[in-house]
Amino acid sequence: MTIDRRHFLKLSLGGFLFPMVGCGRATPVTQEQMYVFGTTVDLAVAGVDRARADQAMRRVTARFLQMHQDWHAWKPGALVDLNRAIARGEAVKTDPSVIDLIRGGTAVSRASDGLFNPALGGLIGVWGFHGDEIPRGYLPAPERVESFLRRAPVMEDITIDGLEVTSANPLVQLDFGGYAKGVALDWALDALVQAGCDDAIVNLGGNLAAMGGRGDRPWRIGVRHPQGDGVIGAVETRGREAVVTSGSYERYREVGGVRYPHIIDPRTGYPARHVASVTVIDRNAGLADAAATALVVAGIKQWPAVARGMGVREVMVIDDEGNVQLSEAMMERVRFVGTRPRSITVPRGA
Ligand code: ADP
Ligand code: MG
Repeated sequence: MTIDRRHFLKLSLGGFLFPMVGCGRATPVTQEQMYVFGTTVDLAVAGVDRARADQAMRRVTARFLQMHQDWHAWKPGALVDLNRAIARGEAVKTDPSVIDLIRGGTAVSRASDGLFNPALGGLIGVWGFHGDEIPRGYLPAPERVESFLRRAPVMEDITIDGLEVTSANPLVQLDFGGYAKGVALDWALDALVQAGCDDAIVNLGGNLAAMGGRGDRPWRIGVRHPQGDGVIGAVETRGREAVVTSGSYERYREVGGVRYPHIIDPRTGYPARHVASVTVIDRNAGLADAAATALVVAGIKQWPAVARGMGVREVMVIDDEGNVQLSEAMMERVRFVGTRPRSITVPRGA
């Protein structure tokens, strides 16, 4: 199976690029790349003149930088200030964008039956994921993990009054690392539409949102193979939608040859192992992002039920041996490319 390289967008951290630049007769595409949210961000806008595209993209990149600062889970900014106030048991006024994240995050957390739990930032910090360098060679003391399970912080502990936030549980520490990029993608597409750009694609470190296409052709996206450098499948976007992947292959703690990835199972307090990656396609990028994270936690038996609960239909799950499970709706969307996966299954009810 071959793929049209000009329209091919690789879903991967770092090495992502828009290889359709400079193709003679095709619709003009204006592109921009930056580093924000701890990852490479690529934007491309098609079908409008360069000046308009540049102006729209400048607005988006400026807002991304601001979001990165306001929403960061451990670097100084609005969210860290809020977390400190919660730990002291104080009420505090926060940024309106943080209020929106809390409201949206609470709704998706509930829909996931708590498997997506952005109140667990304290535990994510205990596991060493609140830093650019992840510790290796030893595990956190079990008592530190258990102290969170005893008073399990949840989004429902939070009360909002205008811009003021309080938490009934001082262990609540907000970490939107599994959700914020999706919300940022939704915002970016809205902003591009407002600026008169209806054909665009935005990539935040392997999480993509697209609308329209390039001329009369859809955007084509590659889903990275979690076990290799290549691509496992290709998806052509339809209208406006996001293609979001959560993986355990990039950020993990390694102890005695075992990898402990950065997605934590709120039921055990331990990292969710065995799922290598989850890809979700949905119109709502924030939902797709939260769902991809929740489905890594749900694991290879429970993901269909959790996906139903969250209202996402197009899902692909790859286990740590390279077996692929997908929903019927996703089976219609993805074209497998390169080496065939070990197995491809549509589980009952998926
Ligand atoms: P990325 O696209 O950044 O690789 P994900 O969307 O998979 O990431 O989110 C991973 C991040 O989500 C973690 O780094 C952590 O900040 C946060 N996280 C980890 N476990 C959970 C959980 N159970 N619920 C909500 N957020 C989580
Ligand atoms: Mg996510």
